[in-house]
Amino acid sequence: MDLYKVNGKIDIKSLSLEELKQEFEEMGEKSFRAGQMYQWMHQKLVRSFEEMTNLSKELREKCRQTYVYTVLEPVRIQESKLDGTRKYLFRLADGHLVESVWMKYKHGNSVCISSQVGCRMGCKFCASTLDGLARNLLPSEMLDQIYAISVHTGERVSNVVVMGTGEPMDNYDNLLQFLRLLTDESGLHISARNVTVSTCGIVPNMRKLAKEHLQITLALSLHATTDEKRKKLMPIANKYTIAELMEACRFYFEQTGRRITFEYSLVGGVNDTKEDAEELIALAAPLNCHINLIPVNPIKERDFIQSEEKQIQRFRNRLEKEKINVTIRREMGRDIDGACGQLRRSFMTPGESRQQEV
Ligand code: SAH
Repeated sequence: MDLYKVNGKIDIKSLSLEELKQEFEEMGEKSFRAGQMYQWMHQKLVRSFEEMTNLSKELREKCRQTYVYTVLEPVRIQESKLDGTRKYLFRLADGHLVESVWMKYKHGNSVCISSQVGCRMGCKFCASTLDGLARNLLPSEMLDQIYAISVHTGERVSNVVVMGTGEPMDNYDNLLQFLRLLTDESGLHISARNVTVSTCGIVPNMRKLAKEHLQITLALSLHATTDEKRKKLMPIANKYTIAELMEACRFYFEQTGRRITFEYSLVGGVNDTKEDAEELIALAAPLNCHINLIPVNPIKERDFIQSEEKQIQRFRNRLEKEKINVTIRREMGRDIDGACGQLRRSFMTPGESRQQEV
């Protein structure tokens, strides 16, 4: 079995129940013990083997020596006075930092998680990619962002969006295992319909995900309507054309029946003209999709500006007139550390940079 390992030891929280049962069998332990341990990890959300009180001391000690038990340590929590949104900065076992966001909505609590430490996609308006990619997150490290926040808030999380730092389709296998564990009825059992994965558009992996037939929502960061314009904002556009992306979206809908979301960050004077709106309509109309307009969140390292309010309204109205399903995403937690990735960056030491771009 090709299992998840950290420094040669198996990361027990990244294992599926089946994999854990097999592990326990090989250790000579009864399979129902694996079920009990899985419940401690993924339902009761305990932070150590010591807390698993219906397992013998010997077994807990054996596990402590054999496995890695991943828990994320909150190093900073910022709460918005405006809307109660909280940003969490977590430290991983090897010292790297990731950030996650907790948002309260009328329809339930939502957590936005990171999928990588940093990112190598190089989108021009995004703070998360400025220092490149450090490493992929393990399934357990994605899960524990949600678990740690659940424990801290004492509230149930009903929605999960993989829209924080990182490109989930660049960490495909770990993402898939994370999704399986997250929606598993023996775990937190979050409904797949309440999970959204956002991608800059890595076509082969979008198609691979489609074939899994999961009921999750796929969000595509489109941001431009021609290949030329998209290349100026997103290096990944040099690899995959918009035509290929649209084909992959059609395929995703065909395979899963799930409506695609297009994310479109409005950048003043770059992609917010009447012509852009017309082109976006032409792309969106043939697909079963929803468009989420995001007024760009300016980062100090780049000189992109937000579109004017009037321009944003005009852009939306034009889409609505063509019966395109559209919403404007209003920034939450406006008072707590600007754009995604900035909280983490403000904590990083100089020189913490790695590989860049695809
Ligand atoms: N890598 C994935 C998910 C992370 S980014 C992706 O590209 O989709 C989540 C969303 O926020 C993406 O649509 C991304 O393009 C957008 N985004 C990043 N920085 C932004 C900024 N400064 N202002 C507005 N949207 C931004």
